[in-house]
Amino acid sequence: MGNNNLQVARTYERLAREAESVGYHLNPDADFAKELVHGLLTNEKRYGYWNCPCRLATGNIEQDRDVICPCDYRDQDLMEYGACYCALYVNDAIAKKEQIAQSIPERRPLVRENQRNGSGDLEKTRWKYPVWRCRVCGYLCARDGPPETCPICRAKKDRFERFL
Ligand code: SF4
Repeated sequence: MGNNNLQVARTYERLAREAESVGYHLNPDADFAKELVHGLLTNEKRYGYWNCPCRLATGNIEQDRDVICPCDYRDQDLMEYGACYCALYVNDAIAKKEQIAQSIPERRPLVRENQRNGSGDLEKTRWKYPVWRCRVCGYLCARDGPPETCPICRAKKDRFERFL
C-alpha cells in the first residue's frame, strides 16, 4: 500500500511538471488528481496502457487508443468546458481556483467515423510530404512519418493520424 501511494505521488508530480512545462495544468485539488492518477496506474496494470480512468476500457488497445490519457478529446474539452472529461486537466482559471470544474458531456463518438473519403485521397497526391496530425492537441507536421513524441503535448507517435 505504501509503495502504491509512493508511485501515485511520484507519477502525479511528474505529470504536473510535464503539464506545466507545456502550458497545461492538473486539477488544483491534488487529492482528486491523485485519485485519477491511481486509476491510470491501475489501468496500466490491468490493460497495459493508461486508459482514461473515467471511461470503460475494452482491453483492446486499438479500440481504446482514443481514450488513452491524454485522450483525443482533452484539448477540445479544455477549450469548451475548461476541463477534460475527468477534470484531471483544467484551464488556467480552474487551476487558479477562480472557477470550479463542472461535470461535462461525453464527447467521444460511439462509432469513430472514417473521416477520409475519395476526395481526401486526391488531396494526398498534391503534397510533397504527408501531413501528420496529433489527435490529442492538433499539432500538424509535414514529414515522411509522425514524430516519436508530439513537441506540443508529448503524445506518443501512435496518437498521430495522417491528415493530408
Ligand atoms: S485527459 Fe482524457 S483520458 Fe486523461 S483523464 Fe482527462 S478525460 Fe481522461
